[in-house]
Amino acid sequence: MGSSKEYIEKLRKSGLRPTKQRINICEALFDAEKTFHFTITDLVKIIETKANQKISLATVYNTIHAFQKKGYLKEIAINSSQAYFDTNTTDHHHFFDEKSKELIDLKDEDVHPIKIKKNIPGKKIKSVEVLVRLDSEN
Ligand SMILES: [Zn+2]
Repeated sequence: MGSSKEYIEKLRKSGLRPTKQRINICEALFDAEKTFHFTITDLVKIIETKANQKISLATVYNTIHAFQKKGYLKEIAINSSQAYFDTNTTDHHHFFDEKSKELIDLKDEDVHPIKIKKNIPGKKIKSVEVLVRLDSEN
């Protein structure tokens, strides 16, 4: 859980003016104690419900992209029409529920270490992140 002082600092470091709307965005993103996965559409809905007022989509976009650039958020690559973001910026794996469009973290203990047998000359592996797609059983 953060304070608005922390959020103002985060916004300034990301090159953004700390407006009330942007602080509302920070609260939606960083107040939750656990990892938060979201699309821009999800986030707009959450903020508008919480603050009971409309927020400009452009403000949400530029804040999220500035935070991503600064490393406060990361984008999770999913072959989807919408970009997914994560407040957990460490390397980790995910389930993606194709029905609910929800991302669920997979912890290290949920996965055996992944061994990559192929080498690319002159290159080293930076990270391995797996996306496991889920479908309903019936
Ligand atoms: Zn995650």
